[in-house]
Amino acid sequence: MALIKAPRGTNDVLPSDSYKWRYVEAVADKTALSAGYKEVRFPTFEETELFARGVGDTTDIVQKEMYTFDDKGGRSMTLRPEGTASAVRLSLENGLLGGALPLKLYYKINVFRYDKPQAGRYREFNQFGMELYGAQSPFADAELIEMAQMFLKNLGINGVYLKINSIGCPVCRARYQEALKEFFASRETELCETCKGRLQRNPMRILDCKSPVCQKIAEDAPKITDFLCDECETHYAAVKNALTAIGTKFEEDPGLVRGLDYYTKTVFELIDEKTGLAVAAGGRYDGLIEELGGKHTPAVGFASGIERLFPLIPDFGTDPVADIYIASMGDNAAQKAFTIADGLRKNGINVETDLMARSVKAQMKYADKIGARYTMVLGDSELETGSADLRNMALGEASKIDISDIEALTTILRS
Ligand code: ATP
Ligand code: MG
Repeated sequence: MALIKAPRGTNDVLPSDSYKWRYVEAVADKTALSAGYKEVRFPTFEETELFARGVGDTTDIVQKEMYTFDDKGGRSMTLRPEGTASAVRLSLENGLLGGALPLKLYYKINVFRYDKPQAGRYREFNQFGMELYGAQSPFADAELIEMAQMFLKNLGINGVYLKINSIGCPVCRARYQEALKEFFASRETELCETCKGRLQRNPMRILDCKSPVCQKIAEDAPKITDFLCDECETHYAAVKNALTAIGTKFEEDPGLVRGLDYYTKTVFELIDEKTGLAVAAGGRYDGLIEELGGKHTPAVGFASGIERLFPLIPDFGTDPVADIYIASMGDNAAQKAFTIADGLRKNGINVETDLMARSVKAQMKYADKIGARYTMVLGDSELETGSADLRNMALGEASKIDISDIEALTTILRS
């Protein structure tokens, strides 16, 4: 029978690699907790309406990338394509925004997008995201940018640069969209089919189009930075000052608009120099909470794509190895090995014993393969005398131990 394969654009995590995920997740936790952000978890699927309204129905995500289905009750559900809309929904539904502000949240989630699978682009991938609600201050924008960079730094990643821009507020952006409409209308016939549709509804989206033709045209388009109102201009300058003051380098890119509709003012991306792909991205989204039914509340956040970080991480640490492998010969010795293993494991020691009824030689080969720090062989004579050789595999040295003294053995193995 033909084997069933994993769906295109998805990835398995194999036993030899799972420690790398634990490492990245532990660094994410540490980074977020270091600035007072608390973890939240929310459902893998939400009502489709949440993303249609939250992410915005002129975005690529909502128009072509969502995994949407009707459940058996006929309700339209969608596998989350990102975390921000759910984090806002969770906060509103649980009254978190009525408590002490700012509200600082983070999440580690898998997300689903019907993207075109290729290097660094999958249909199920993982994000680490941080969100900050209630703070209007430009230091909030700067803190989030700083946190994204800190996450990469804590992972030992180099070779990533920061791009920032301001895309203004609904007031100044309306004037900008008009100017863009006029500009792109003059080149309408050259635009891709998708962008022709964007022209009337949301011309700013065209700046984010991945088609080379549209990108080329967009190079000559008016720049948002020439349209910012005084408040947005002042805010943007203050964010840049805050970053400069802590020695953060950035490149201003007036063409950076991001793929989600909810952004206002600051947007940013951290780009991998080698591939040109964004490894983290975010910005301010002052309108979203209100859009989803809350009170007007300023907000800023970012999300980092974990899979894209993997090739950039120099050292993932190691998987824990067995502290001891207890080999045995015969049924009585196997029972004793099993009993000792149980006693040691109850003390938190990582132990393996033979489960395959193999020869001692084969067992020792296995102990070597798994990199056990210590080994011990139990046979009839060890059971009789009550003592065995405990071998330190790195040093090749052995010392006699009392096989019924679990506490003494625990002390040696802990050191
Ligand atoms: P892109 O322009 O590359 O499609 P995006 O604007 O859709 O990115 P966001 O929605 O901001 O990306 O998601 C945040 C991060 O998630 C991105 O910066 C990137 O690191 C990662 N990411 C986005 N799409 C994918 C994907 N299909 N596979 C893997 N990682 C992704
Ligand atoms: Mg995308």
